[in-house]
Amino acid sequence: AQEALRQSQKMESVGQLTGGIAHDFNNLLTVVTGNIDMARRALDAAGAPDPRARRALDNAMKGAERAASLTQRLLAFSRRQPLAPKPLDVDKLVIGMSDLLNRALGEIVQLEIVTSPGLWRVEADPNQLESAVLNLAVNARDAMPDGGQLTIETTNARLDEEYSAQHAEVAPGQYVVIAVTDTGEGMTRETIDRVFEPFFTTKEVGKGTGLGLSMVYGFVKQSGGHVKIYSELGQGTTVKIYLPRLMNDAGVADEPSLTSGLEVS
Ligand code: ADP
Repeated sequence: AQEALRQSQKMESVGQLTGGIAHDFNNLLTVVTGNIDMARRALDAAGAPDPRARRALDNAMKGAERAASLTQRLLAFSRRQPLAPKPLDVDKLVIGMSDLLNRALGEIVQLEIVTSPGLWRVEADPNQLESAVLNLAVNARDAMPDGGQLTIETTNARLDEEYSAQHAEVAPGQYVVIAVTDTGEGMTRETIDRVFEPFFTTKEVGKGTGLGLSMVYGFVKQSGGHVKIYSELGQGTTVKIYLPRLMNDAGVADEPSLTSGLEVS
């Protein structure tokens, strides 16, 4: 619990800091790109411009545009979006993402979705859950440069006192599990220990922000759930999201809707 609290405080302060910096930086970048654009126009208007000058300006513009896209992502991260939780059928949400996921994964990664008839409902923000699943899929794709398989599997799970005792931050209870498994390169022990840290990335500059998993972590914690990572170097990785089962006002477990078993495709 101490560790979870420390992590969330860290996320909070990092969020505020990056928000401020990203905002100022974004404004400055507008000045940079505006001036590059003016210089390019002036050069073009001057008739036979030196192609090296034109190329240099084009490269400067590309760099500035990449920086702008990075600050956009930082801003999106730091903006404290209030969660809008509602009763949710996770299987339906995941199936609804099939096209989006297939596009994100490209042709060399196969997508398999394994749904679970009678899956309990949860209470979570559907947009945030979608972006969490998309984040995990993009990480999985990056871990499979030569192709492979991404499996998303949902199940009901009861976590007992014993499990809870071993995982200090997890309350015993009923959860819906979303397991995202890839057949990619896996992670080292050092990486596993640091993946939830904001800005921790092993990807090259401009490719990774190191914010994906910390966003997933923040959202799941705020939703009363938890995240677990299993990874084997050279074998692949499974990220499991646990979201608490939806309870009604009386604290009674919500029954799965009658149709949920039929809609599985
Ligand atoms: P980013 O993807 O921008 O690097 P993340 O927070 O999403 O940021 O991930 C942090 C790091 O965790 C990645 O750079 C990578 O080293 C590792 N990682 C995340 N997901 C996977 C995965 N499915 N397989 C292997 N490594 C992963």
